[in-house]
Amino acid sequence: MTTETHCPYCSLQCGMRLAPASGLSSGSGPLPARTALEVTEWPEFPVNRGALCRKGWTSTGLHRHRERLTQPLVRSTETGELAPASWEEALDLIGDRLLALRREHGADAIGVFGGGGLTNEKAYQLGKFARVAIGTSQIDYNGRWCMSSAASAGTRALGLDRGLPFPLADIEHTDVVVLAGSNLAETMPPAARHLAALRERGGTVVVIDPRQTSTAAQADVFVQPVPGTDLALAQAVLHQLVADGNVDSDYVESRTTGFSSVRDSVASWWPERAERVTGVPASEIRALAGLLGTAEKVMVLTARGAEQHASGSDTVLAWINVALTLGMCGREHAGYGCLTGQGNGQGGREHGQKADQLPGYRMIDDPEARSHVASVWGVPPESLPGKGKSAYELLSSLGEPDGVKALLVFGSNIVVSAPNASFVSTRLDALDLLVVADIVLSETAARADVVLPVTQWAEETGTMTNLEGRVILRQQAITPPVGVVSDLAILQGLAERLDSPVDFATDPETIFAELGRASAGGKADYAGITYDRIRDERGVFWPCPSPEHAGTPRMFLSAFGHEDGRARFHVVEHRGAVEQPDAEYPLHLTTGRVLAQYQSGAQTRRVRDLPDDGPFVELHPMLARRLSVEDGQPVRLATRRGEMTAPARVVDTIRPDAVFVPFHWVGANLLTNDALDPASRMPEFKACAVALSRADRAAPALAAAPELGAAP
Ligand code: SF4
Repeated sequence: MTTETHCPYCSLQCGMRLAPASGLSSGSGPLPARTALEVTEWPEFPVNRGALCRKGWTSTGLHRHRERLTQPLVRSTETGELAPASWEEALDLIGDRLLALRREHGADAIGVFGGGGLTNEKAYQLGKFARVAIGTSQIDYNGRWCMSSAASAGTRALGLDRGLPFPLADIEHTDVVVLAGSNLAETMPPAARHLAALRERGGTVVVIDPRQTSTAAQADVFVQPVPGTDLALAQAVLHQLVADGNVDSDYVESRTTGFSSVRDSVASWWPERAERVTGVPASEIRALAGLLGTAEKVMVLTARGAEQHASGSDTVLAWINVALTLGMCGREHAGYGCLTGQGNGQGGREHGQKADQLPGYRMIDDPEARSHVASVWGVPPESLPGKGKSAYELLSSLGEPDGVKALLVFGSNIVVSAPNASFVSTRLDALDLLVVADIVLSETAARADVVLPVTQWAEETGTMTNLEGRVILRQQAITPPVGVVSDLAILQGLAERLDSPVDFATDPETIFAELGRASAGGKADYAGITYDRIRDERGVFWPCPSPEHAGTPRMFLSAFGHEDGRARFHVVEHRGAVEQPDAEYPLHLTTGRVLAQYQSGAQTRRVRDLPDDGPFVELHPMLARRLSVEDGQPVRLATRRGEMTAPARVVDTIRPDAVFVPFHWVGANLLTNDALDPASRMPEFKACAVALSRADRAAPALAAAPELGAAP
């Protein structure tokens, strides 16, 4: 038996087939739990046409893994160790403790933390569980740390947030694509073929990144700003477009509002001024603006490099201002998009696990939205709580007198992925009760009072929404191990114990149908999508309000999402990274991903066929010489929040005033800054001040930045 499904990792959600490695078929239905699976191509799936990266090819490596959890674990009050327990014992314990906390402190003493890798059905059910079964407003998820700045900016400027408002393959048909802070070739390699196809057609690829990544190596134009200065760069590009007369005035007049204020606000961003801030030579800025201003079709795509800053949403707005000035948004094969990161980064933010949202991308403080969703859920609208705290603010409140006292975590490894991680760990330890549902004993699960073993990809069916807004179906291929249940069954079991006023289903297709009704009429309308349609059509793009509707691959062609149908320009100002290098911490630190690992690494670090060399510190040869650091030698990084030690990797692809650390291991986020974007509440993962020294020296010999602010 062969099952058509999708990769468990990133937002590309590559199509793949799973079959028994033995080649023997066992008839219909899921294969027995111990069956070794093999990944094969699914060439007909349009997004990746059979191509996978090494994470996809090795994705079955966790199925029969020796570290797989197959029994609930409860921390013993006597030994302090986690010990096996039955499901009844574990769920009864959680239910009793939550009921007691709710009685004593109110429902907001219980928090729920979700994940951008959960299926749509789980994300939806988690939001409903929090608001109806517990009655808490305190729910948010790790996607807040991924795409929330782009989501906030897209909503404000275009009236609606769908990461890519067009199919990814449109890249091939534009003339110039600008990748602002995206390392596409490493984070989602099958997508990089679109860049190659564009170049074959004679198009131009522009990469903006403080590191000359493998994506930058394939670019026609590479721009290397100081970390945290992307906004100033975008302002200068816009300044130059205006100065050159490259404004699509008819488009600006007929499809947008607010241009004149933005035009005036960038008057002071002449390229020489921007050069001093960004380190990018004025001539390069003028050339980039000239390239964009004279191309017929331009596509601007942002990713975490531009977004994960305390000014991330303003940075995205600045790039949208550029795209609108050129008249690109809402045109075929052009416009602005965000390259979402997590597997269900898009769907995960649409259906209610975000602190301020209800299903269908409705806002929780909108009376009409509350009324509609409450009617689908069978509860009075006034019983639904209001807005909760954003992810980092929620974690910061753990264990405080008026904060959350019990936290339920689904699909997230907070201890590795939260900014200022050692502080967050102390907050987790201050809880009365920490419950973690996971497939392995992640760093977060290891700190829990109760650990619940859950099904993983290929052991369950559910929908995901990829980076293009295409709703796809992951189908079950294999029976879960004995002792493991779906997160959906856990939510049902806990809802019963918490005296929920309504029942919780466990069948994903039934939940998806309910999600469709709850989302009907909302911005992310799934009402016309069914499992059968997804199978037949290989994915359906939302919005899709009825069974007769074809879905919406391209958005904004005739109108934007605001009531008047116009896009909005926004005046924004460069602020720079909150923490600037100084005498004590003289370098810029930036963080990111590597090809063989995914997010916190809880899954990929355990896959034997993926290389795991641990974290490393990338630094420029000039900096290495100043410190007498050899390639491979251990170095110590220190910020105001923490320290880590890792081998040096001396490369000339990074700016000499910056260092880079991948975030898949404990380490990088001990250093990162928890300053938040005021609109999106995105932490500043991508830029802070750091000191670097040789690890074999007792007292840190701090490295001054060579040529700070100047491009190498
Ligand atoms: Fe999986 Fe992303 Fe790799 Fe595709 S690009 S195989 S979805 S990790």
